[in-house]
Amino acid sequence: MEKIVLITGGSSGIGECAAKALHDKGCRVYELSRRDKNHDGIVHISADVTDEEQVKKAVEEILAKEGRIDVLINNAGFGISGAIEFTDNQDAKKQLEVNLFGMVNMIKCIIPAMRKQGGGKIVNMSSVAACVPIPFQAWYSISKAMVNSLTMTLANELRPFNIDVCAIMPGDIKTGFTQAREKTYAGDDIYSGRINRSVATMEKDEQSGMNPMVAGKFIAKVALKKRVKPQYTIGIQYKLVIVLIKLLPARIANWIIGMLYAK
Ligand code: NAD
Repeated sequence: MEKIVLITGGSSGIGECAAKALHDKGCRVYELSRRDKNHDGIVHISADVTDEEQVKKAVEEILAKEGRIDVLINNAGFGISGAIEFTDNQDAKKQLEVNLFGMVNMIKCIIPAMRKQGGGKIVNMSSVAACVPIPFQAWYSISKAMVNSLTMTLANELRPFNIDVCAIMPGDIKTGFTQAREKTYAGDDIYSGRINRSVATMEKDEQSGMNPMVAGKFIAKVALKKRVKPQYTIGIQYKLVIVLIKLLPARIANWIIGMLYAK
């Protein structure tokens, strides 16, 4: 039976590639994002994940048409950067509003339908930053650590309903994410230029990072698996980074992270 997939933030980058890969595998794909973009064979629905009413309407629209949603991929997200001391709390809250609560809005709308249909799969886009907290990108790292916690707790809560939940943690991927990052360099004089250096290093890594199609295909593969693990990393080098950070004493792990992103 043709799988019905809903992916958020499918208008660009990783989401667009995942939508294409799932479409190529014979799924009927709906992509929910704020801006319409012509996609071959992929149905666009305009909505902002932070708007509960828009999310509810979008899910109802798909259910009315298809009768079910087999897979939800929570991919929409963005990043902010800056020193914690000088980041406006409103900006920090907006980061969590999109990356965490946007996901929660989608999940809460989909669970009743998945329970009724006897099961389903929820795939949440996290990041290596969930396990490797990056200085001067604290709120982004915090939002993705929360995504990992949300995923693990939800997986246990939903197990009896045959709803699988997993998180995917990509590393650096070359997308419009870099351009969309909302940056503040406030206080960089006090921090001796470290904010600028840190963010510039990250941006360089992202722009020389993995092709988003590799990530898109990986996500599609996970989305169509019979059973999933709670967490996935894309690429052996990032798997090693996460294992190392988890194994090392916190003092040493954080010293290494500081050498890379807080010099
Ligand atoms: P991108 O900027 O190309 O795509 C992000 C998508 O999310 C866009 O379609 C955008 O319109 C959508 N979006 C953002 N806010 C939204 C909102 N409020 N409502 C609806 N849609 C919204 O970036 P990407 O690299 O493709 O990122 C996709 C996901 O992967 C994000 O969750 C990001 O945190 C994660 N990620 C990216 C990287 C990377 O290096 N690019 C690394 C790790 C994780």
